[in-house]
Amino acid sequence: MAAVRPDRAFADITTLAASPRHPQENPEAVREAAAYISSELDEAGLEAHEIPVTSEGITLPVVWAEIAGESCADKVFVLTGHYDTVAGSPGADDDASGVAAMLETARVLARAEPDASIVVAGLPFEEQGPPYPASRALGEALQGDERTIVGMVSAEMLGYAAPEGQGDDPGDTLLLLGYEGAEGLVETFRAAAATWTSTSEDWGGVEAGTYPPETSFISRSDHLAFYELGVPAAFATDGADYRTPHYHQASDTPDNIVRPFFEGAVTTIVSGTFAMSSLDADGDGTADACGGV
Ligand SMILES: [Zn+2]
Repeated sequence: MAAVRPDRAFADITTLAASPRHPQENPEAVREAAAYISSELDEAGLEAHEIPVTSEGITLPVVWAEIAGESCADKVFVLTGHYDTVAGSPGADDDASGVAAMLETARVLARAEPDASIVVAGLPFEEQGPPYPASRALGEALQGDERTIVGMVSAEMLGYAAPEGQGDDPGDTLLLLGYEGAEGLVETFRAAAATWTSTSEDWGGVEAGTYPPETSFISRSDHLAFYELGVPAAFATDGADYRTPHYHQASDTPDNIVRPFFEGAVTTIVSGTFAMSSLDADGDGTADACGGV
């Protein structure tokens, strides 16, 4: 597998977060972001596709690409980040960081020959909240194509570690929060992340758990739509407003990304995604994602 290059992923943040990307207030910028994602996926050697989605009077694309599985191409793991922002915020953390992790995953895994297929996507309209129409359009398109989605992770704010922590948040962990039914998914990501160590005090590893759908914080991003489609789904996050003072502010700029934390988060997303497509945990000679009955 090619190496993860955090500097390359950080450059994605710098490019995307040049200005706010609110669909109604900044239509040019949000379209530029979609075009950038498309060209970077092509550059990675994949073929970028678009699914147009219309919401609140504007049409924006789901931009996605696939790394076809070698053993069971009909089984798919899905990784997303969202490229829109709230008004007035450049959204370096929220969520250029997640898009950057998605793009770096595409670059690193493009020629990794996974067992199951991997779909990566940049999504619009996350900041509108539920029902997350772009995320749902992607899930429905894949299921309508007779694909079985084995898991989905929304990479949602991967860039901030708080030096002192807050409440019971240690401040330096990547949170991988899944719905009930995603136990295998979050454990696979946690285990994959544990293979990468860092000496930085800004990287505390991964905290993973699953929660019932009525839990207040669990439905805060695009993974909700996949959960509603019956898919094991989770989001990876730095804790958003629970941790970062820059949440939805004009100060959510590349300067305020905590680089060692972001490096750990990107490495986690890449390694967890590959594990979801190819890990054979029970050693039966078949990747778990391909099913072994
Ligand atoms: Zn977000």
